[in-house]
Amino acid sequence: MKIFCIGRNYVEHAKELGNAVPDEPVIFIKPKSALTQGNIPFYYPQFSNELNYEAEIVLHICKNGKYISAKNANKYYNQITIGIDFTARDIQNQLKEKGLPWEKAKGWDGSALIGKWVDIDKVVKPINFSLNLNGEQVQKGNSSDMLFSFDKIVAHISEYFSLNIGDMIFTGTPAGVGECVVADVLEGFLEDEKMFQVEIK
Ligand code: ZN
Repeated sequence: MKIFCIGRNYVEHAKELGNAVPDEPVIFIKPKSALTQGNIPFYYPQFSNELNYEAEIVLHICKNGKYISAKNANKYYNQITIGIDFTARDIQNQLKEKGLPWEKAKGWDGSALIGKWVDIDKVVKPINFSLNLNGEQVQKGNSSDMLFSFDKIVAHISEYFSLNIGDMIFTGTPAGVGECVVADVLEGFLEDEKMFQVEIK
């Protein structure tokens, strides 16, 4: 199982971190050990002093494939959820400054949190999602604001990596990313439905 993530897929978010808007999807991968789902406790990473949340729509891959065309890509994902691409922003900034890979900032144990899966056929499009921090909305996104659509992302990833049943794709975060600290409670919503709730320990 592989966890793909797309960076800078919403213009307003690219801008808020001072990044250029990409002309092709920015791809990185988290290892399987990064996955957190269900009632597993989430612990603040000891090596960071600046933990950030990034709420994202996550796709579940349901068919094996490679060199998938954007036209056929919608056959390769059947479920979605909302997740958090947890990021140690202080570590990421240090790595970015040196031009080094991001794994230590984004691939650590528990850094890929996902909610419950729902069938994509049952979800209203374009998809609205949001994140609450201690009961207040801090991020709000709509899939129509993505620079690269689900289908374009699947096609692009599959040029470089085979996609396999059970793989997941975090499709990027909208503006409003920010810090969270111990005892904060994060709740992810797909439309009005709560997909996860997590407390930082
Ligand atoms: Zn992200």
